[in-house]
Amino acid sequence: MASVLITGGARGIGKGIAMAFLQAGHQVMIADLAGGEDWNYDLATEGVMAETIAELESLGDIRGVNLDVTNAGSCDKAVAATVDAFGGLDILCNNAGVLASGPIEEFSESDWDRVFDVNVKGIYHMTRSALDSLRASGSAAIVNTASIVAKKGARGMCAYSASKSAVIGLTQSLAMEFAPEGIRVNAVCPGIVGTAMWHDHLMANQGGEAFEDRVQDLVPLGRPSSTLDIGEAVRYLATAENVTGVSLNVAGGMVMN
Ligand code: NAD
Repeated sequence: MASVLITGGARGIGKGIAMAFLQAGHQVMIADLAGGEDWNYDLATEGVMAETIAELESLGDIRGVNLDVTNAGSCDKAVAATVDAFGGLDILCNNAGVLASGPIEEFSESDWDRVFDVNVKGIYHMTRSALDSLRASGSAAIVNTASIVAKKGARGMCAYSASKSAVIGLTQSLAMEFAPEGIRVNAVCPGIVGTAMWHDHLMANQGGEAFEDRVQDLVPLGRPSSTLDIGEAVRYLATAENVTGVSLNVAGGMVMN
């Protein structure tokens, strides 16, 4: 049984990752914002986290902790809470992320900085906070949530796609750095998952096209990925003993390299 810490775990893909680990008998700490963040769509709150814990606790041992990945002290506290709850930390899932979109000439510097602070620097903070605990584990792994837009770009997603390309670079460099210690580092690259990012941001800003029509246009397998599709891939990457430095597409064929 492994102890798993999932950032951005209160909802969406993070919740799917939590489900996948719980179904396999692991202990899960979901870590997310307490609420009140100012962003272009609503982020998670303590209430959302409480609902998720109530929904998933029949599957196994799930706890929650407040976390802001842009704050190093908050990352230290989330790791400490996990170690207190479960006696250690084996698997860190760096899944928290934010999205802003629009043409670069209209894209604010503050949005650029926030996207990079959460999506990239958040992984830097969390990895540093977790490292001592991961080193103490006999079978440690990190799985970062990147995106297929890291590999192919997307119109109107300058900061987001650049941040996710950075996640892949960071994943590969940390995989090299930690390989001698047996700590594996991989990334998952989702395509279209019907979470707040799509429904409250991308579709809300795109003039009435239905989500289902967009999926049919873009996804060869003809359906969105489920949060559990992504969760099961993350669980595989976290437990596959000979796999490191991989950025695995889970996107219904949207990207094939
Ligand atoms: P989501 O908005 O439901 O989940 C993101 C979570 O991150 C939220 O719970 C949010 O509160 C949390 N978060 C944001 N800022 C944070 C911070 N500073 N500290 C801690 N937590 C913070 O959207 P999602 O689609 O579930 O996104 C999860 C991950 O998947 C993100 O990294 C996202 O970029 C990535 N992704 C999503 C898709 C998709 O189609 N939905 C595709 C590719 C990649």
